[in-house]
Amino acid sequence: MPISQDTPLIRSIQVGTTGRGSMHPEHRYGSPLPVMLWLLFSRRWVDGVPVHFFAIEHRDGLVLFDTGLDPAIAADPKAYLGSSMGVFFLNRLFRWNLVPEDNLSHQLALMGHDAASVHTVVFSHLHFDHTGCIDHVLQAPLLAPRREWAAMSEPQSERKWYLRQHIEKPGAKWSLFDLTPCEDPALAPFETCHDVMGDGSIVLLPTPGHTEGSVSMLVRSAGMPPVLLVADLCFEVDMLLKDQMPGVAEDFEALRASYAKVRALNDNMPGLVILPSHDMNTASRLAQAMQAAPGIG
Ligand SMILES: [Zn+2]
Repeated sequence: MPISQDTPLIRSIQVGTTGRGSMHPEHRYGSPLPVMLWLLFSRRWVDGVPVHFFAIEHRDGLVLFDTGLDPAIAADPKAYLGSSMGVFFLNRLFRWNLVPEDNLSHQLALMGHDAASVHTVVFSHLHFDHTGCIDHVLQAPLLAPRREWAAMSEPQSERKWYLRQHIEKPGAKWSLFDLTPCEDPALAPFETCHDVMGDGSIVLLPTPGHTEGSVSMLVRSAGMPPVLLVADLCFEVDMLLKDQMPGVAEDFEALRASYAKVRALNDNMPGLVILPSHDMNTASRLAQAMQAAPGIG
């Protein structure tokens, strides 16, 4: 459905941070070396990498985009991952700087929200640093792309960083969605989407590559610039604009195609604000965009 130009359906968009960590530059910015080589031997780290989630105040309730990390992963990685091999590779890939207060409920409270009142949670993809703390929002429907759920359901998917034991939680109200043809010409070149609230204000677009079923969330409302939450499509906006691939992706060809589609959307949609989940500039870019927006708090 095309978005109404005069009804303020969205009251605010906020970014939350469930801790920060470090990753190798070869991972973040790409490398000509084989992955296993830099994974095992790189001594270089990019520090201060945020693990963001987003809270969108829709007229009908609070919608989350991802739930970030669970600090329990740092407290006892072996118990959290369930395997020593997992801990070995996790420690080669990331260094976390987490405290218990980095959990979702606490971070939402700092943002002025109660986790128990969350209306809907949408997941960009099902990697563990986007699906932490599901326990905190069990009252809410949890929306995931069906294709992503299928990838998680494959044998040994923990090797791709899908931690099923923390996703298929007892009582969790999972709801899987398919992307269907969309009739909104403003979304071109995207031809399929999923309209979360049924009013065009929160629309999911397929941006596979980082994982098979990854989606981005487009948020549009009167009085604010359009915002595209791209999760892990790119680690930094500049990488997307310069067509710079990261060191790891499930499907680089799909990632490159998704990059191109998002750049085309960016060309078609004046003022679009693109916000990745691990970009050091996401919080400042969002604050700047919202400061300039007359109709939003
Ligand atoms: Zn990811």
